[in-house]
Amino acid sequence: MSKKEITENIKEFALKLGYTNCGFSKAEELTKNKESLINAINNGYTAEMAYLQNNLEKRANPTVLIENAKTVISVLLSYYPQQIENSSDYKISAYAHGNDYHEIMHELLNKLFEKIKEEIPAVNGRTFCDSGPVFERAWAEKSGLGWIGKNNLLINPTVGSFVIIGEIIIDHELEYDSPIEEQCGTCTLCINACPTHALTPYSLNATKCISYATNSSKSENISDFFIGKIKNEIYGCDICQAICPYNKEINNSFNKFFNQNEYVNWEKKDWENLTEEKFTKVFEKTTIKSMGFKRLKRNVNFVKNNIKVTK
Ligand code: SF4
Ligand code: SF4
Repeated sequence: MSKKEITENIKEFALKLGYTNCGFSKAEELTKNKESLINAINNGYTAEMAYLQNNLEKRANPTVLIENAKTVISVLLSYYPQQIENSSDYKISAYAHGNDYHEIMHELLNKLFEKIKEEIPAVNGRTFCDSGPVFERAWAEKSGLGWIGKNNLLINPTVGSFVIIGEIIIDHELEYDSPIEEQCGTCTLCINACPTHALTPYSLNATKCISYATNSSKSENISDFFIGKIKNEIYGCDICQAICPYNKEINNSFNKFFNQNEYVNWEKKDWENLTEEKFTKVFEKTTIKSMGFKRLKRNVNFVKNNIKVTK
């Protein structure tokens, strides 16, 4: 079978699995992304994410990460939520409205990899989704699945930016896709909407980002910097996605795997009265579980007190 036929078969199977998009890139060093990351580290924009400084060469170059790497296959999985703008009750980022995307993505990636092995029996490779040093957005962009917008997220012109990105890096050459044009144009809606001014076009200062502060940061307390800025986000922040014109009027049927869990519609008192026992039970299958009860409580308490401070 020709490279072209194998590539088409893999793409077709990926779409059958439920991915909205699948694209291929030559595995090679991403020099520009490496430079941007070094600049972000030097500017202190990467906050507590010390792991970004490790494995820099592997992150920048899949041929260092995987022996003989030739192709990076990128896929998109839509988690377009039933409701983006919800009530004034505490907000959970849309990617956590359903069950843990890591598990869903890895199950699908494994199925896709099995298909690749059928097509190329001698293939070697590895699957990734938040699970290794890979510039996920950059690979998706290079493979023509969208462009990295001024909000620093991958935007696909049809399915928007509420997507999870996954990759399979393999040691066989296939047919490569080309990037599409950047389509933010003169729009600056996300930059203007960000309550903490964490965004400059195409760059994010994680130390100012609500998503980082309420999810990734392991600090015991949320910094006073966020007083008056975090309104009701208790896990992540979708403000710069919700405002983006490319996320309006998205066909909900793109989201095939993420049902909305009932805690999305909890009232404030449900979060404020949450016990550790209930946390363990309710969030068992979600990404919120990995943050742990204490950090979720930290966030709820911060927002609750913050609302009092800013009244
Ligand atoms: S996630 Fe929220 S805080 Fe972070 S850049 Fe976007 S709007 Fe700003
Ligand atoms: S809101 Fe506008 S500038 Fe920001 S990512 Fe979307 S299109 Fe680009």
